[in-house]
Amino acid sequence: MAHESQGFGTRAIHAGQRPDPSTGAIMTPIYQTSTYVQSEVGSPTDGYDYARVKNPTREALQGNLASLENGRHAVAYASGLAAIEAIITTELSAGDHLVCGADVYGGVDRMLRYVWDRFGIEFDFVDTTDAEAVQAAVREETRLIHVETPSNPMITVTDIAACAAIARDAGAVLSVDNTFATPFLQRPLDLGADIVMHSTTKFLNGHSDMIGGALVTNSDERADQLRFYQKTTGGVPGPFDCWLVLRGTKTLHLRMPVHCANARRIAGLLDGRDDVERVLYPGLVDHPQHELAGRQMDDFGSMVSFDLGSTERANRFAATTELFQLAESLGGVESLVSVPTSMTHASVPDEKKAEIGLTPGLVRLSVGVETGDDLVQDLERALDAL
Ligand SMILES: *Cc1c(COP(=O)(O)O)cnc(C)c1O
Repeated sequence: MAHESQGFGTRAIHAGQRPDPSTGAIMTPIYQTSTYVQSEVGSPTDGYDYARVKNPTREALQGNLASLENGRHAVAYASGLAAIEAIITTELSAGDHLVCGADVYGGVDRMLRYVWDRFGIEFDFVDTTDAEAVQAAVREETRLIHVETPSNPMITVTDIAACAAIARDAGAVLSVDNTFATPFLQRPLDLGADIVMHSTTKFLNGHSDMIGGALVTNSDERADQLRFYQKTTGGVPGPFDCWLVLRGTKTLHLRMPVHCANARRIAGLLDGRDDVERVLYPGLVDHPQHELAGRQMDDFGSMVSFDLGSTERANRFAATTELFQLAESLGGVESLVSVPTSMTHASVPDEKKAEIGLTPGLVRLSVGVETGDDLVQDLERALDAL
């Protein structure tokens, strides 16, 4: 087993895992079982009584993710949205208020508007890059502040430590969606967040072959509560999906530097072109939160958005690139292109799109780890063809 004092790469490969006790298998087996045989009534081995409650492959993944986020506990879910739902069900009751980042994953916006609104959860969407606006939105009933940084699809950066201080003063909890940065680039718990949330579907898995989510926390009490809700509401991931994320995190520290280097080069290239209206990448010195990103993150990530001025140009561009394949999602080894306004963020109301600056011509790239020269050539060819 790995130790807290070991480096990120060592923990990525070893944390949460040990040779299988029955055979010595170096890889954690996929424990594809629904139940466990007990020798006597009421004496399950080490809490293994039913697989919704506990599964060894899931335990290994949870141990691994907790270590990478410098946290004490992780709880895994069937999807990133199931993880968000778990934050809401464990932290909020009817009448409580949530301050949610305005520029968050489209599915979070949809869940609040169409599901939680019916259950009496109050919420406001706030530009969390502005700490004063976050403070101003806090009310007596505010129990939770949820931010995403870097955000989706406007790639804004929110000051985690500042939001943690606001939450602490308000007696609320700060949850941070760390999907875009990954713990390799940013560790929100170290900056004062109470809960880190992930769609493990993205960089943690890294190979676009499963859907999953996770929460990480340092609080023993919160972890007990999350585990109780996990077994009680049932949104658990299957063991094979857990195994796929575990396989992915072993190379996170190898993939991320290449993702970042390719993205930095591509952001620079786009920034230098007259036919691109604006480029959103925290690594560019004119990004509004460039300095904060430099402080809070170890590198700037691999998500790049830019504006081509119209739906027509954005759609044509996205259909022309070859290496950048047209698809939703992100964080895999392969590069993807999407047009958020009609894809990932189609369910976000038009006036809110206008408010956060999500224009029809916005294109989002998930820059993969292919050879940089080939990615550059693909983008230049598609832009020249417009
Ligand atoms: C994909 C994503 C989610 C939702 O996760 P799923 O695994 O698709 O349910 C939440 N937040 C961010 C930032 C995402 O990219």
